Amino acid sequence: MPLGPREELEHFRDLGVRDVFLVPRPAAGDQPALAAGSMPDLDALARFVDGCRRCKLASSRTQIVFGQGNPNADLMFVGEAPGRDEDEQGLAFVGRAGQLLTKIIEAIGMKRDDVFICNVLRCRPPNNRNPEPDEVASCRPFLEETIRLVAPRAIVTLGTFAAQALLETDEPIGRLRGRWREARGVRVMPTFHPAFLLRSPDRKKDVWEDMKVVRDFLAGK
Ligand code: URA
Repeated sequence: MPLGPREELEHFRDLGVRDVFLVPRPAAGDQPALAAGSMPDLDALARFVDGCRRCKLASSRTQIVFGQGNPNADLMFVGEAPGRDEDEQGLAFVGRAGQLLTKIIEAIGMKRDDVFICNVLRCRPPNNRNPEPDEVASCRPFLEETIRLVAPRAIVTLGTFAAQALLETDEPIGRLRGRWREARGVRVMPTFHPAFLLRSPDRKKDVWEDMKVVRDFLAGK
């Protein structure tokens, strides 16, 4: 028969234990960690993430941007973090960079609804500052569970930050882009961020080269 708490303490006293330290129970408002592999589908994951206050971005965001698209997509795009438009609308890549992303998707013969689009972070950093390591650490389980549930054949990371975060490297995007890598058992093609292309349109040809490799892989070529 299992020992009750009193007998258990007496047992340890008899063994010579003199000090017992109590770990405080989580306060009522504390939120549980996500156990990898525990979510049955994206809807359940979205409910789990709903109302998240696990990092400091919870106090400045308008709403969580979970990500959207085909839950069984062959192709997934991962950006950095929601910007102002995304924070307002609750959808990933809906601002100017998002409009360019739509063109990139259409250029390889797909539609936005065919793919799944999300970010490393689900909340907007204030004034679009770079994500901080504790924020990435809080959000990483959500990204990893999203990848597991969508189970895409390929992931395209957009920009330095997403590539470095997903691939856990500090290699610059100029060296990462254009070649297949792997994360969580899925092929990853790092390419430039559409917001960067809006400032440097001469680099669109590089993204086109990267996307042709992705298109050919998905077509089985
Ligand atoms: N930039 C990103 O990285 N993600 C978005 O959702 C929008 C802009």
